[in-house]
Amino acid sequence: MEAAFREAGLPKLRAKQVFRWIYRKGVTDFELMSDLPIELRALLVQQFAISTPQLVHEARSTDGTRKFLFQLSDGKRIESVFIPDTPKQTFCISSQVGCAMDCDFCLTGKMGFVRNLTTAEITGQVRALAEATGLRDKPFNVVMMGMGEPLHNYDAVMASLRVMADGQGLAVPPRRVTLSTVGVVPAMERLAREPVMPNLAVSLHATTNATRDRIAPINRKYPLEQLLDTCRKFPLNRRRQIMFEYVLLDGVNDTPEDARRLASLLGDIKAKVNLLPLNAAPGIPYDRPADERVSAFGKILADRGIWVSVRKSRGRDIRAACGQLIVEGQKRSAGAKLAGLMEGASR
Ligand code: SAH
Repeated sequence: MEAAFREAGLPKLRAKQVFRWIYRKGVTDFELMSDLPIELRALLVQQFAISTPQLVHEARSTDGTRKFLFQLSDGKRIESVFIPDTPKQTFCISSQVGCAMDCDFCLTGKMGFVRNLTTAEITGQVRALAEATGLRDKPFNVVMMGMGEPLHNYDAVMASLRVMADGQGLAVPPRRVTLSTVGVVPAMERLAREPVMPNLAVSLHATTNATRDRIAPINRKYPLEQLLDTCRKFPLNRRRQIMFEYVLLDGVNDTPEDARRLASLLGDIKAKVNLLPLNAAPGIPYDRPADERVSAFGKILADRGIWVSVRKSRGRDIRAACGQLIVEGQKRSAGAKLAGLMEGASR
């Protein structure tokens, strides 16, 4: 913003003032920025635009989860989710329209990749959710676990972390932000060298390359050994661990043998495991395992000294749960099969 203001012949200080209006006070109308001279406001209206993702639909779950459908300035649509009381207040935001990673159990993956979000669109979701939930001046966590693969949109995602952290604005420190990746190894290596670091979550989902190749195709490029080696070397300060997400697919990756293998794979990594029993949906060719299978899997890990939790499926009734974010009409390939799937998945 300072660079853009300089180009327009405006002093740096003004950029800071406008930044504060937008990101701290939630004001996106230049005319209402009352500490700016009137002529300056008129000039800003002429030369700049503040585009906030436009809320087109909101769904509320019986459990308090709220899902927001936003329209971007080019008409593309994304979803973000507010998950209350986990015990923290959490905003789950998207980093891309669609996703290129094509995990076999994820509806966003079925959309294919449409485009990257800009830094403004990523932070704009946080502004919009803060506004809608009345949490602008309260603490909340941000998880980059919505649509898209954040490390496939590296620069915009890292810039959004810096914007969110800025004390003049939202002031969300990076320790309150979790970035979840399916394991884009070169980008993880780059992330490891960043001065400002979010919490890291890694979607592991399998304990053999054969299974992971099938359910998370990125594994064919960066196999398990390479991914885990990168995790092992990832710099973690004292109190941090890597959170490994593990989606449980009935009869595919949820056997006691898988649990034992998982424990030994993670043996020398500062890890915690978050189990995600599949959120089933039409078009997803897997089943959710029975609760007993989930707890048996968790117990094997816990018995081996691994910190383990089971993710509650918040907002399943409004399709706001993990892997259920999909937006109609933006699919890459328009096959009849996919169209049928999206129909089944729509609200
Ligand atoms: N691309 C990133 C961010 C998505 S985070 C990543 O893969 O980590 C969303 C989490 O939900 C991921 O762990 C993802 O694998 C998981 N997920 C996707 N589809 C799911 C489904 N149907 N049920 C449960 N979890 C799912």
